[in-house]
Amino acid sequence: MKNIRPITDESRPKVYIETYGCQMNVNDSEVILSILQDHGYALTEDISRADVILANTCSIRDNAEQRIWGRIDQFRLQKERRKDVIIGIVGCMAERLKDKLLDSHIVDLVAGPDSYRSLPDMIAAVTPDSPQMNVLLSREETYADITPVRMDRNGVSAYISIMRGCNNVCSYCIVPYTRGVERSRDPRTIVKEAVDLYSNGYKEVNLLGQNVDSYLWKDSESADRDVNFAQLLEMVAKISPDLRVRFSTSHPKDISDEVIYTMAMYDNICRHIHLPVQSGSNAMLEKMRRKYTREWYLERVRKIRSVMPDCGLTTDIIAGFCGETEQDHRDTLSLMEEAAFDAAFMFQYSERPGTLAARNYPDDVPPEVKTARLNEIIALQGRLSRQSNEKDVGKRFKVLVEGVSKKNSGELFGRASNNKVCVFPSGGHETGDYVEVEVVSCTSATLIARLV
Ligand code: SF4
Repeated sequence: MKNIRPITDESRPKVYIETYGCQMNVNDSEVILSILQDHGYALTEDISRADVILANTCSIRDNAEQRIWGRIDQFRLQKERRKDVIIGIVGCMAERLKDKLLDSHIVDLVAGPDSYRSLPDMIAAVTPDSPQMNVLLSREETYADITPVRMDRNGVSAYISIMRGCNNVCSYCIVPYTRGVERSRDPRTIVKEAVDLYSNGYKEVNLLGQNVDSYLWKDSESADRDVNFAQLLEMVAKISPDLRVRFSTSHPKDISDEVIYTMAMYDNICRHIHLPVQSGSNAMLEKMRRKYTREWYLERVRKIRSVMPDCGLTTDIIAGFCGETEQDHRDTLSLMEEAAFDAAFMFQYSERPGTLAARNYPDDVPPEVKTARLNEIIALQGRLSRQSNEKDVGKRFKVLVEGVSKKNSGELFGRASNNKVCVFPSGGHETGDYVEVEVVSCTSATLIARLV
C-alpha cells in the first residue's frame, strides 16, 4: 500500500506548501505533495529550509487574492536570503493571472489546477532567466490514479476529490474559468482511495466536488453501469459502517430525491447537507444564473427535513449582489428564517473580472449598504444558529473525536452527524474514537456535552 503520510527524510530536497481557499484546494495540495514525493521531495513546515515554496491559491474573492499578493511580497525575503529557492504560485490565482504573477519578479513558476503532473519537470527547468508556466486546462484530468499524501494532523477525516471543474457558470463565479469544465472521476478509484484511508485508520471521508449532485461516471461499455452521485454515495457507505461519509457541495437545482433517500438509508452517511442558496430573491437568483427559484429551494429544504428531520442544513449567502434592492435583501432574510439554517458562510459581493456579472451588471450597491446588509444577515444567522443549538440541548449524539479542545486540554471536540461541533470531557477517550454524548448547553457555535 502506498505511503499516505508526508515523508520527512532530511536528505531529500524540501517543499513547503501553503494552502488558501476551499477544501478542493486542501485536497489538491495533497495531490501535489504526492507527485513531488514520488520525484524525491520531502515536506517541510519550515519555510526557511525549503528548496521549493508553493502557494496553492484561491481567486474566489478579491480579498483572497490581495492576501496572497501580500504573501508573495513576504516570499521576496526568502529569495533575498537564498537566491536558489524556487517560488511557485499554483491553483486558481495562477490560472486567472498567468504571466502577471511572473511580472512580480519573485515568482519562478505558475501552474494551473490541471497541470500538477508537470510540476517536477517545471521545477527542474526553472532558472533565473527562465521562469516556468503551465496553465492549460484539461477536459480529462481528474488525478484519479494519484494517492494524495495526507497533510491533516488528526488522521481521522480526509478529503476525496470525486470530480473537478464546473459547468454551471453562475454569473458571479470565477471557478468555471479557473478550474475548467466538469469531469467525474472513475468510481472504482474513489472507492479504492476510501478503502485505503479506512485501512490507514481514517474514520471519515469527505467526497468533494464543485457540484457533487451532477457527478456522473459514464461507463464506456454499457449505460447500465453508469454511476450517479447517489450510487457513488452508497458504494462508499458500504465500505464499513464505521467509516463516516460526508460530501460537499450540493447544488439546489441538482440535489435529487435519490440522494436524499440514499442518505436516509445509511447511518454512516452523515445527516448534513451544505446547500448554498446565495439569495432569497428570485430576481437576484435569475441574475446570478442559479437556475432555481426561492420556491424550488424551499421545497428541497422541506423534502430533506421530511425524510431526515435530524439533518443539519448549512448554506452560503451573498449580500449586495448587482442591483440588489432592499426588498431583495428582505427576501433573503425571510428565506433564512423559513429554512432555519444551522450555520452559513456569508459574504459581501465582490466583483471578479471576467465573470458574466462583471461583464453585464454594474456592481452598484454602495459598500456601506453591502456592509449593513451583511451585518444584518450575520446577526440573523447568529440567532438561528443559537436557536438550532438550543433545540439539541438534552439530545444524545454519536460524535467522532477529532482532537483536544483548544480552550481546555481536559476536553475533546468532534462533530455529530449533523456537522455540529461538540465539546466534552475527555474521559480517557482519544482522537478517532466514536463517543456517545448528551448535550447540556450551547453557544451559537458549539454544543457543550457530557459523556454518556
Ligand atoms: S455551481 Fe456556480 S458557484 Fe458553484 S462552482 Fe459552479 S459556477 Fe461557481
